[in-house]
Amino acid sequence: MRKPLVAANWKMHGSREMTRELIMAIRDGVDDSWDTEILICPPYVYLDEASRQLDGSGIALGAQHLNPNPGGAHTGEVSAPMLADLGCTHVIVGHSERRAMYGDDDAVVAANFQAAQAAGLIPVLCVGETLEEREAGTTGVVVAEQVEAVTAAAGIEAFDKAVLAYEPVWAIGTGLTATPEQAQEVHAGLRGLLAKMSDKIASDLRILYGGSVKGANARALFGMPDIDGGLIGGASLEASEFLAICEAAGTPARA
Ligand code: PEP
Repeated sequence: MRKPLVAANWKMHGSREMTRELIMAIRDGVDDSWDTEILICPPYVYLDEASRQLDGSGIALGAQHLNPNPGGAHTGEVSAPMLADLGCTHVIVGHSERRAMYGDDDAVVAANFQAAQAAGLIPVLCVGETLEEREAGTTGVVVAEQVEAVTAAAGIEAFDKAVLAYEPVWAIGTGLTATPEQAQEVHAGLRGLLAKMSDKIASDLRILYGGSVKGANARALFGMPDIDGGLIGGASLEASEFLAICEAAGTPARA
């Protein structure tokens, strides 16, 4: 059984004070009986503060991006070894905002994925289609190409230590959510694609859903057989909503 994972992507939000308060509220609200792994990905500048606040909590720390070079003359950039040094265990790669706004194409995403693993970090690889692609009926092809760009570069074995996140672009930050059935169809397709390369790796891989997940819709999504948790943007900035999502992922109604 794949243990559910709920990951918070704070995007470019927050302050030092918000980081402290939000993490404190999440720590206070987490119930040990939930079978949920929790990951928090604040902006770079708050990683150190978050790392201190999370110490001893069992909640993991991740970053939202990395530069694939291990170091050197890359002004303004942050490397995977630096993230590991700060206590990160995970890093998001291929988020649709980076693909759309910062030129992270499939080759960059694959390089970031490999650089993360080389530093011992677990990449959370995001894939997803735009509304136009969904309406054109090409969702399956689009997400398969995004995943295959990484398997071609890193090999299927690399997915042994990775997390995949299906995030339809039209559902991110829009309030529109894929129905549980729509999401399940894509998740099952992705797992099937990877199973052709390795049954074992595909069946052990956690595939998260992201796109306007809230306390109110989380349980129905996480009840689907191939949805193993969520990548949460907006709702992760409110402790009570985020905790409701973590509870939905890790309480018996899911089983
Ligand atoms: C995200 O940023 O990855 C995301 C899923 O955002 P939201 O939950 O706000 O749609």
